[in-house]
This record gives sequence, structure tokens and C-alpha cells, in this order.
Amino acid sequence: MEFDGMEIPDDIEVTVWGSNEHRLCNVCRAECDPEPSGADGYGVRIIYVCRDHGLQSVVDPFEHLR
Ligand SMILES: [Zn+2]
Repeated sequence: MEFDGMEIPDDIEVTVWGSNEHRLCNVCRAECDPEPSGADGYGVRIIYVCRDHGLQSVVDPFEHLR
């Protein structure tokens, strides 16, 4: 899976708003920093990146609109 020229590992789940679980690092359970990641015509994604463990989750706030 790939978008924005960034490769997303297959074990990363794309989630939607609703819980806070996606904010937490799967490894150290620290709260990750949200970073916007969007592409024209493809909607906006928010990625959560742990400073120590890298990309943790990808959130699509507008999935329900498509
Ligand atoms: Zn971590």
C-alpha cells in the first residue's frame, strides 16, 4: 500500500476517528504526534508517528464521506 510517495507497511491499519487507540504507539504506548498527509483529489490523511518507533497508524477523517 502506498500513497503520497510514502510506503505504508501492510500491518498498518487505516482507521477512522472514533477512538484514541490510533494515537498510541503500538510498542511503547506513548501518544504519537499527528502529521497531516494529503494528496490532491485523494482526501486528507492523518498519520501518527512515534518518535522512537516510527509510523503507527493512518487516519482518514473523511472516509465516511466517500
Ligand atoms: Zn513508540
